[in-house]
Amino acid sequence: MLGSMPSTSISITSRLPQVGTTIFSVMSALAQQHGAINLSQGFPDFDAPAELLDLMTQALRGGHNQYAPMTGLPVLREAIADKVQALYGARYDVADEITVTAGATQALFTAVAAFVHPGDEVIVFTPVYDSYAPAIELQGGTVVYADLAAPAYRPDWAAVRALVTPRTRMIIINSPHNPTGTVWTADDLAELAAIVQGTDILILSDEVYEHMVFDGQRHESVMRHPALVERSIVVSSFGKTYHITGWKVAYCLAPRELMAEFRKAHQFVVFTVHTPSQVALAAFMRKPGSYDGLQALYQGKRDIFRQALAGSRFELLPCKGTYFQCVRYGAISDEGDRTFVERLTREHGVAAIPVSAFYPGGDDHGVIRFCFAKSAGTLERALERLIRL
Ligand code: PMP
Ligand code: GLN
Repeated sequence: MLGSMPSTSISITSRLPQVGTTIFSVMSALAQQHGAINLSQGFPDFDAPAELLDLMTQALRGGHNQYAPMTGLPVLREAIADKVQALYGARYDVADEITVTAGATQALFTAVAAFVHPGDEVIVFTPVYDSYAPAIELQGGTVVYADLAAPAYRPDWAAVRALVTPRTRMIIINSPHNPTGTVWTADDLAELAAIVQGTDILILSDEVYEHMVFDGQRHESVMRHPALVERSIVVSSFGKTYHITGWKVAYCLAPRELMAEFRKAHQFVVFTVHTPSQVALAAFMRKPGSYDGLQALYQGKRDIFRQALAGSRFELLPCKGTYFQCVRYGAISDEGDRTFVERLTREHGVAAIPVSAFYPGGDDHGVIRFCFAKSAGTLERALERLIRL
């Protein structure tokens, strides 16, 4: 019998030579190793609504344990269509224009796989969510970076326009934005629409934080914008909205011709998504106000976090959406951001994400990201530690 696995003699050429383990896994592991409060990886430390958990139990016990249809359960797609129409005005066809996915990560990956050919260019904005560039590179696409300049992280539309070439196939956008917490305005979308007008450029719009927009602003979905919606693939995630990041259920919306193409890939990436989750979510979405409280919940947590850190040596950057707060720590240390978060985790018992992880070249602006999707007790304990620095 073979003992442990021998090291292989097979020679491989990595398709992702620059990629290691994601910063989220790295920092969560470090937090666990040192018993630190984990404000790094983005997930709530409080549970999903009890009603949703009950619905899941009922679905499991009610015999909903075999394959769902490839596109998602019709009742769930219907609930999604109604919600999106109520919020943004766009009506997507339940049969042909909505697909349930195994998390937003899969939806984003599949969208890129479905539309990006080798040699195509895809524009993304730095700091950029870590899954976008590897997804593009695995398809043989070229990643083109538009910078959201620190510390305001606003798009420079003239610079974006200059990056567009005849090879540009797609622009990936993300508002509210991870990691910076910035939120695009209607003017931003109008600028984007003007740039893509008359081209065949697709927009892949990552709207997983759609319900976390603060200070009375509204979420400017591409679905509100007629010129953009016809060329957009929109992705949102139940993980964020219902505090169930571990369920990995999300969805994708697109005009039928685009959705048909998306599904050609989707059916061979995952085929279909966990059935009982879909049964439970479809019923839960029909409860009045199932996502209404999110803005107040997270705005309250943001305010607690900011008020406490206002008296500290951390410099708070604006946070208009998401459940992330970025800070500069230059008054505390001149270390690089990775070194600083490692020491923060080991010596002070609070884990954070270095924002350099969201740049292809690891650009370090001395900014780190905290996740404030935590219970009052967790936030209090973490803040006590952070204000002492
Ligand atoms: N996009 C962004 C911007 C995210 O922050 C995340 C996860 N936090 C995802 C996509 C992935 O979502 P999911 O867990 O549903 O795959
Ligand atoms: N999106 C989450 C974050 O930004 C993490 C998701 C993941 O671990 N891949 O922290």
